[in-house]
Amino acid sequence: MNSKTDVLVIGAGPAGSIAASFVHRAGLQVRVVEREKFPRFVIGESLLPRCMDVLEEAGFLEAITAKHFQQKFGAKFLRGEEIADFNFSESFTHGWTWTWQVPRADFDLTLVEELQRRGILVDFETTVNWIEFQEDERSVTTVLHSNGDIEKIEARFIIDASGYGRVIPRLFKLDRPSNLEPRRAIFAHLQDMHRTDVDEPNRIIIVSYAPQVWVWIIPFSTGITSLGFVGSPEFYQRFSENREKQFSELIAGNAYLKNRFGNASLIFEPRILEAWSTTADKFYGNGFVLTGNVTEFLDPIFSSGVMFATVSSQLASQLVIKKLQGEKVDWEIEYTNVIQQGVDTFRSYVMAWYDGTLEKIFFAKNPNPEIKRKICSVLAGYVWDADNAFVRKHTIALKRLARVVDVEDKLTERP
Ligand SMILES: Cc1cc2nc3c(=O)[nH]c(=O)nc-3n(C[C@H](O)[C@H](O)[C@H](O)COP(=O)(O)OP(=O)(O)OC[C@H]3O[C@@H](n4cnc5c(N)ncnc54)[C@H](O)[C@@H]3O)c2cc1C
Repeated sequence: MNSKTDVLVIGAGPAGSIAASFVHRAGLQVRVVEREKFPRFVIGESLLPRCMDVLEEAGFLEAITAKHFQQKFGAKFLRGEEIADFNFSESFTHGWTWTWQVPRADFDLTLVEELQRRGILVDFETTVNWIEFQEDERSVTTVLHSNGDIEKIEARFIIDASGYGRVIPRLFKLDRPSNLEPRRAIFAHLQDMHRTDVDEPNRIIIVSYAPQVWVWIIPFSTGITSLGFVGSPEFYQRFSENREKQFSELIAGNAYLKNRFGNASLIFEPRILEAWSTTADKFYGNGFVLTGNVTEFLDPIFSSGVMFATVSSQLASQLVIKKLQGEKVDWEIEYTNVIQQGVDTFRSYVMAWYDGTLEKIFFAKNPNPEIKRKICSVLAGYVWDADNAFVRKHTIALKRLARVVDVEDKLTERP
């Protein structure tokens, strides 16, 4: 069986749906192939306000709003009794001041159903097995359907949005290890029976659990909450090997978690993910572009995954449209450099989180409100705002600030 399309999108996660939406709106023929049957579980439940710009421009806001997902207005960090509270309405960059906390199975299905409503063909349970690129940049992709049928799809361009599947980097050996330490997460969804007993029950909370170990609490509008622990693989060696036991031991190790989730029932057995940081040698090539997680995924600490998936897919699809309309595209300048700048900014924040620099800044005794607004913009995902010194000078600004905070905190402590 052979078929043709202008653009083939691999993967129907947020990156794939955003790409398909823009390509279709430009009047080009687009087809999405997705390995799984939706709804399917995927982690990545806390969004950033920067996603909202893309979701709006891609025409998804109405469909998502109708699902009544939990709204998210900021990020709250807890360390024992200390609180560092960031409210997106105070961000330095003018942009969206809120977003959502979403069970991704429902969220991703909402996007795909909207694509289908617009007449875009999405093939579920269809796995890309091989791609052959031709000299004129066209490609022939071999896919396997769930009924065993093999189909060859000829495309003028491929957008690889296959997330952790990393289709093109794996097929063409473009994978490159990240320079971040490998980490492991253990997580589950729980019945959050004691949610209303706590202050601001529906807010996402990041708990500092131990040095370099943190916890996410992401409440959904359904009454279910996502709870996950992130630390080095060695950290978990002191706990039971049995997942459920390990998860309850971890909960018992922190007063806030114990009070809220001590007797909570699990919706599914805790799952484990590890060593997720990977990147690719190049983000584009003759006839293809990589978007979303396939480009680079750093770390979950600042919930940047879906933001990068949506922003990179919007940019990539606009460039694909330009290219297929006969214009010249400088992929290095117009795509790689732009995405890399955002990734590098977040990388500095991720590294500063794990080496303790950011905790020092977040839990400063007298935080400077102007600086806090600038850091808040980064946490909202506005990492392309060159007017923000905490974006522009991301490598040095945090270190310098931490040194100042250190001195100020010591002065405050003096009798
Ligand atoms: C522990 C952890 C916690 C996280 N928490 C957050 C968070 O709070 N917020 C956040 O924004 N991000 C978070 N992330 C990151 C988030 O999971 C990803 O960044 C996000 O899902 C990327 O979206 P995507 O569309 O690129 O890929 P995905 O959502 O992974 O979608 C890719 C799709 O491609 C399909 N596919 C794969 N291979 C093939 C193939 N061969 N053929 C056809 N289809 C294929 C897959 O089935 C999948 O549906 C977290 C990550 C980890 C590891």
